[in-house]
Amino acid sequence: MSLPSRDPILLTPGPLTTSLATKSAMLQDWGSWDASFNAITGKVRKQLLDIANAHESHVCVPMQGSGTFSIEAAINTLLPRNGHMLVLINGAYGKRMAKIVEMMGRQVSVFETAEDVPTTAADVERVLSNDRSITHIGVIHCETSTGILNPLYEIAEVVAQHKKSLIIDAMSSFGALEIDAAKISFDALIAASGKCIEGPPGMGFAIVRKSVLEKSAGNSRSLSLDLHDQWTYMEKTTQWRFTPPTHIVVAFHAALNQFFAEGGQPARLARYTKNYDTLMAGMRELGLIQFLPAKIQAPIIVTMHAPNSASYEFKDFYNRVRDKGFILYPGKLTQAETFRVGCIGSIGAEEMRQAVHAIGDALREMGIKARNASNS
Ligand SMILES: *Cc1c(COP(=O)(O)O)cnc(C)c1O
Repeated sequence: MSLPSRDPILLTPGPLTTSLATKSAMLQDWGSWDASFNAITGKVRKQLLDIANAHESHVCVPMQGSGTFSIEAAINTLLPRNGHMLVLINGAYGKRMAKIVEMMGRQVSVFETAEDVPTTAADVERVLSNDRSITHIGVIHCETSTGILNPLYEIAEVVAQHKKSLIIDAMSSFGALEIDAAKISFDALIAASGKCIEGPPGMGFAIVRKSVLEKSAGNSRSLSLDLHDQWTYMEKTTQWRFTPPTHIVVAFHAALNQFFAEGGQPARLARYTKNYDTLMAGMRELGLIQFLPAKIQAPIIVTMHAPNSASYEFKDFYNRVRDKGFILYPGKLTQAETFRVGCIGSIGAEEMRQAVHAIGDALREMGIKARNASNS
């Protein structure tokens, strides 16, 4: 079996399929001192604040590395050493956030629900009322390990009523789902270049309340993962503190320009929703069933039950679908055999239809008949 000569379509939670314009933007070298490059960094920071409608209250601090680096930087910088963070968990990324808080030596409490149960505002109200020592709350907007959507607006309201600090992992939702700083209160939101903005992976960013960031000097236990230092240096010099990911910044800027040209967040959500609907119609025809109830499933990444067949094996299935040009993602659940399909990236309904055909063909090759799948 030979790989197709074109790039595979990435149906994953990132890196994602990027457009030709975004890829082409990487074909140039830039000096990190050069004013033309630093002007692009400035534009990217402004564009990200535009998306969150946060110019009045917040600043944008980019950070080298994958998304996790920016989350670690935000926790390190924004939690005082005697801070106490409550992390709301219903999947792997919530667990990762709690681990970061613990490793950074701050006090951590967790509120955990099953992977198919969103955290509710009432849960948060109860926990905050019972423990007044909590200073910060960490929430995963879309928990990518299943694709479950947590009710961010309702949770943010409870956190604001208690006058606590909210830190949002919006990694897989930013740009696709509305997060408007004029409508909800948060101290920090973290996302990255290679998710719903459809840039290449390699940098993250935090949108941080300015009054909070100003007071956070000296909190970080890390030299490199310090948002306050990165911010003050960038404000002073327009430059990144250490070597910037130049090609990624420039391609991310190209992706942001396309994002706005497409119509911004509402247009992106509309395209992803159509991708999701197209995918689910095809999955139903193949007899495949989604893990989450539709009403708590974000149109970002879908967890599917594996076919209920002795002939099914993920690696074989994955390889067959890959050889047809589509990269799937393994499931992340212990309780059920699943696989995941992303609906995000520079793709549309046509690619989703082709993906459904590839999945159907792969199952037939494996001797798994359509409509013969799990009906659990
Ligand atoms: C992708 C993602 C991250 C960051 O993961 P990296 O591998 O560090 O890029 C964090 N949280 C969520 C919810 C994500 O989807």
